[in-house]
Amino acid sequence: MTKHETDVLVIGGGPAGTTFATLLRKQGRQVTLLEKGRHPRFHIGESLLPMNLPILDRLGVLDDVRKIGVPKLGADFTIGNSGESERVFYFRDALGESPPHAFEVRRSEFDHLLFENSRRAGVQIHEDTKVTKVTPNADGSHDVVAIDDQGTTHHWVAKFLVDASGRDTFLSRANGWKLPNPRHASGAIFGHFRGVQRRDGDDEGNISIYWFKQGWIWMIPLRGETMSIGAVCSPEFLRTRKASLDEFLLKVIASVPEAAARMRSASADMPAQATGNYSYLSDRMIGPGYIMVGDAFAFIDPVFSSGVYLAMSSAERGVDVAEAWLSGSRRQYAKARRRYEKLTRRGISIFSWFIYRFTSPAMSNLMSNPKNALQVVQAVISMLAGDVYSNRAVRRRLLVFKTIYSMSWLMNWRESLADRRAKMAGVRMANRAAE
Ligand SMILES: Cc1cc2nc3c(=O)[nH]c(=O)nc-3n(C[C@H](O)[C@H](O)[C@H](O)COP(=O)(O)OP(=O)(O)OC[C@H]3O[C@@H](n4cnc5c(N)ncnc54)[C@H](O)[C@@H]3O)c2cc1C
Repeated sequence: MTKHETDVLVIGGGPAGTTFATLLRKQGRQVTLLEKGRHPRFHIGESLLPMNLPILDRLGVLDDVRKIGVPKLGADFTIGNSGESERVFYFRDALGESPPHAFEVRRSEFDHLLFENSRRAGVQIHEDTKVTKVTPNADGSHDVVAIDDQGTTHHWVAKFLVDASGRDTFLSRANGWKLPNPRHASGAIFGHFRGVQRRDGDDEGNISIYWFKQGWIWMIPLRGETMSIGAVCSPEFLRTRKASLDEFLLKVIASVPEAAARMRSASADMPAQATGNYSYLSDRMIGPGYIMVGDAFAFIDPVFSSGVYLAMSSAERGVDVAEAWLSGSRRQYAKARRRYEKLTRRGISIFSWFIYRFTSPAMSNLMSNPKNALQVVQAVISMLAGDVYSNRAVRRRLLVFKTIYSMSWLMNWRESLADRRAKMAGVRMANRAAE
C-alpha cells in the first residue's frame, strides 16, 4: 500500500476548502484537496456579502466573479400580509470600510471557479474522491483513506488536516462531536424559477426577504432570467407537507401576497429540493494537527446570507494556524489557534443573535421600521455586509440595537413570550426527532 505524503490535506472543495488550499499553496506549502463530487455541481447558497469581496481579491478571482455575478447593492425585507412595502438596506450605508455591494452567484459557477483557481495555484486536486476514514497519529499527523469513483482506495499521510466537508461534517460525525443547535431549528425548500419579477433599476440584484407566520422566503436574482427562491420554515411546519415539494413551495409562496405578486409569469427551472433541520455545531473546531472550517464546524441558518462568507473567512484565518503548526513553533501555533477560535466564534455568535430572533414579532417590526438611534441602522447594515470581526464601532452599536430589541420585546411581552415558547418547543421537537 502506497501512502502519499502531503503537508496539508483538505477534505472538500467548496468555498472553505478551496480558499484554504489556494492561500496556503500560495505560501509555498504542498496541499492536497479531495472532493467527493465533480465541479460544476449544484449547491444552494447563492447570495454573497460585501466582505466576501476582499477575500475574492486576495484569491485573485474578483474579476472572474464579477463576470458571473449580479451586483447586489442591498437587501430588502417585507412583512408578508401586512400591506406595507419593503424596507431596503443598502450596503453603501454601512459604518466603516465594507464594500458598497456584493454579488449573487450561481454556486455551480462560483464553486467551479474557486476550484480551478486552486488547481492553477498548484494544489494537488482529486475529484470524485471521497474521504472515508481519518486516523490521528501520535505526532499530530493524520492518516487519510479515500475511495475514488472507480472503487480504488487511496492513502495519504498529512502533517495537517483540514475538514472543509460542509454539512457532511466529516470529523464531527465520525467522532460524535456533532450537536444539534439547542436554540434554533429550521429546514428549507427551494428551487430556481424563470419569469419572476425583479426589482427596478440598480436594485435588480438585491436579495428580497419576506416574513410569514411559519418562516421566511428568499428571492435571489441570478444572472440571466433565473431567480433562486426558497422558503425557510420550522421543521414542524415542513412535516405538515402532503403535496409534492414543488407544489408545497408554490403554496407557501402563494400564502404571501407580496411575494406571489412577483410570480405571476413564473415557471420552475428545476425540481424543488429540500433540506431537513440543518442547524448544528461541533463540540470542537480545532485540535492537534487538524482544523474545521466553514460548515464543517457549524451552520445556523441562511437568513443573512452569511454562510459562504463565514466559510471563506474562517478558512483564511485557518491558514495561519496550519502555517504555525507546520513551522513547529508552539508559541506561534498557540497564538494563531487562540485568534482562530475567538474570531470564528465571534462571527457566528453575532449572526446567531439575530438569527435566533429573526422570526420574532419584535425583530420583524424593528427590521421593517428601524429606529435609527446612535447609528444602529448603519451597524445592522454592517452586520448584513459581514463586518462582524474587528469593527468595534459596529459591535458597540449592535449592543444598542439589542437594547432597543429588548425594550420592544418587553413592551409586547405576552406576544413575544408566546412566540419564544412556541419556537423552543419546536426546537426541542426537531432535535428529538433527529436523535
Ligand atoms: C437552504 C440554504 C440556503 C443558503 N443560502 C445561502 C446564501 O444565500 N448565502 C450564503 O452565503 N450561504 C448560504 N447558505 C450556506 C452556504 O451554502 C454554506 O454555508 C457554504 O456552502 C459553506 O461552504 P463550505 O465550503 O463550508 O461547504 P460546502 O460548500 O458544502 O462544500 C463542502 C464540500 O465538501 C465536499 N465533501 C463532503 N464530504 C466529503 C468527503 N467525505 N470527501 C470529500 N469531499 C467531501 C462536498 O462535496 C462539498 O463540495 C445556505 C444554506 C442552506 C442550507
